[in-house]
Amino acid sequence: MARGLPLSPHFFLILLASSLQVFQKIVYGADNHTQPNLTPINRHLYHSSVDLMEEIKELVHRHPDKLSIETFKTENKGYKAEITVVTYSRNQREIDDRSKFRILLSFGQHGRELITSELALRILSVLSEEQFLPKMDHALPNDTLDRLLIKVIPMENLNGRKLVEAGDLCERRNGNLVTFVLSYLDHFHLERNLTALFSVAGRGVDLNRNWSVDWGKKEKDYDPYEENPGISPFSEPETQIMRKLSKSFEPHMWVNVHSGMEALFMPYDHRNTTPDGLPSQRMRLVLEDLNHLHCHDRCMIGSGGGSVGYLAHGTATDYMYDIVRVPLAFTFEIYGDGTASSRDCFKMFNPTDQKTFNRVLNDWSAAFFSLFKLGPNQLNKIRSTPTVNLEKLVSIDEYLEGYLMERSSRYGKKTEVLDLGLQEIRTYFRLFFLSSVLLMFMFCTRISKSKCSRPNMSTMPRDVSV
Ligand SMILES: [Zn+2]
Repeated sequence: MARGLPLSPHFFLILLASSLQVFQKIVYGADNHTQPNLTPINRHLYHSSVDLMEEIKELVHRHPDKLSIETFKTENKGYKAEITVVTYSRNQREIDDRSKFRILLSFGQHGRELITSELALRILSVLSEEQFLPKMDHALPNDTLDRLLIKVIPMENLNGRKLVEAGDLCERRNGNLVTFVLSYLDHFHLERNLTALFSVAGRGVDLNRNWSVDWGKKEKDYDPYEENPGISPFSEPETQIMRKLSKSFEPHMWVNVHSGMEALFMPYDHRNTTPDGLPSQRMRLVLEDLNHLHCHDRCMIGSGGGSVGYLAHGTATDYMYDIVRVPLAFTFEIYGDGTASSRDCFKMFNPTDQKTFNRVLNDWSAAFFSLFKLGPNQLNKIRSTPTVNLEKLVSIDEYLEGYLMERSSRYGKKTEVLDLGLQEIRTYFRLFFLSSVLLMFMFCTRISKSKCSRPNMSTMPRDVSV
């Protein structure tokens, strides 16, 4: 590109970003500096996403014996996403030990819930023994820690979080055009292809509605600004990474950590009931213990769908329970300010003063360490009950999803197969499967009838030739 052109791509990008920021402020009222009623992010209490991830990386590097870190990146039609996963094992050489109790924890799935990622950092600091729980009786003995393998996703929705940091304090979905222009400008990667920027426009998908269990169903009060489920299940790179991680790790326990209220939820989110049977009762017992020990009995307990006041379709926890067959699958809501106005999102979802901030991190880090003890105990009780079969049964849905995902990644076209409509393909497959079973049944019936009608060898007349 020749120098000195008055309208270079760089100039155009800056102009575009400025226009978008103005547009964003007009549409969303996101400029918290000019609106005194809205609480801005308290930068003294909260890390920026860049600083938080940097601090976590440094923590891991200081404790290579206990912690390791990996970053998964993927892309969909020009929209790039990455998820960093920290793995805790008291002895890193035992990181592949399948006899350990495996725990998967996700924080920051919704951009505006900053406090959850601060809790992830606190839990990792306690696991690395750089920080300690407020009361020593909540600490775990070494032999309990030895049996745990914990994967922590400190910030599942990094792109959405960047949007919040850029001023859109109510954003909970994943990244969109504005995020990307801003992040490109931030990092001076101005020479990138403009078409890639435009192709991500209007994405804005709720990562907790993009999973396949009961995906896409819309309630009467559906608000796309809050709950956009995407064009198909697993349309989003972030959800694809999480799904792959959950399938390979096969956790015994999953916790999806959110804020907005104080609650301890178990499946289901898409129904107003909890699952039947003993495993479900065990989950409830774990939550009742946690509520009593750490939430001063004020946390709401029960199924997400039955307790929160609305049904949620296509959520991560329902998928973890129904498809990945995680026996202990939870969603925790760790803080909420019910007095905040609905537009004052930073205040509604995050503590704004030092005292509350510390209280939330202290209470919930202790709650998680209790959970690390209660979870394995309850699972052992489930396993020792002979009537409950925890063997993983591969359902048609699971098989088909695995098949589709495998195909889509094998040919490097991540969404084409899914874009056809997973639900429709699944229906055809079911019909095909049922008709095959029916045919087999008819075939077998005919054989058995003909067998019955055939005379027994011993009763055959002797003069019949063989
Ligand atoms: Zn949330």
